[in-house]
Amino acid sequence: MEKQKTIVFKVSDNIKEKMIEYYDLLRRDKKPPYSIFQADEGGTVITLYESGKVMFQGISADIDANMWKDLESHFNNRNIDEELKAKEEKEDDKTYYYYDAIGSDEVGTGDYFGPIIVTATYVNKETRKLLEDLKIMDSKKMTDDKIRRCAPIIMKKIPYVTFTLSNSKFNDLTNKGFNMNKIKAILHNRVLYELSNKNIPYQKIIIDEFTSPRSYFSYLKQENITDKVTKITFLTKGESKHLSVAAASVISRYLFLENMDKLSQQYGVTILKGASDSVNEIAKKIVSKYGKNELYKIAKINFKNTEKIL
Ligand code: MN
Repeated sequence: MEKQKTIVFKVSDNIKEKMIEYYDLLRRDKKPPYSIFQADEGGTVITLYESGKVMFQGISADIDANMWKDLESHFNNRNIDEELKAKEEKEDDKTYYYYDAIGSDEVGTGDYFGPIIVTATYVNKETRKLLEDLKIMDSKKMTDDKIRRCAPIIMKKIPYVTFTLSNSKFNDLTNKGFNMNKIKAILHNRVLYELSNKNIPYQKIIIDEFTSPRSYFSYLKQENITDKVTKITFLTKGESKHLSVAAASVISRYLFLENMDKLSQQYGVTILKGASDSVNEIAKKIVSKYGKNELYKIAKINFKNTEKIL
């Protein structure tokens, strides 16, 4: 019979955080006293304590424990860590730039008002030139005016699929326990799947990374989504690394702005982006005029703003 093993050691705060994220979806409902979580993975029970002590129990406890020990020693080696990070974060990384690729990006996730919009685009050698001429790079660095001018041109010239998640649908999902990253994963998959099935000769599929690939696919699995793309390149700062992601963000933001314009017209007040106090002031006006249920249709109720408004 194989032997059950128990391995206990202490991890740094750095690794502690990584473990919390890594085991997020594998947590048990209950946890022992003084622990942050208890989780199951492949027959190993993992318990992380507030003190930073972590316990691995099971036949393959050593394998799981070693993975974290390795990571810990890796992180302790600051030079390697910083080097890797610098490489990953470098915005002018051209590794993927010249591929013909499908890329996706979303907007609206940090805005109290307005929908979440996710778009996938396809950019090849020819359309890359057009986007370069329009100086499409990072939509966050582009003014709303420029977005409004460029997006309609892009939308005529390149293949794209976009999806708008209304606020009421978003609120339904969060009420069901969906977190933001799960919602994003489902939406990104949806537009990527649709576009990649349009007979497009793409070489890569790129996502502007918002969660680890592992969590991304777990979210899809949780919802039994079978229509999915699996060969994905996840890139942080993806907008700067491939123009398909940049174009996706520009189209998303354009549609978001249009949506906000409509809302502003409808309510006779300029609906602001973001989630600041001025946003709360506008929300209060709308609530006093239309009642608090109105927020469910136009805002993300799970934001902290809601408490301050009501
Ligand atoms: Mn993004």
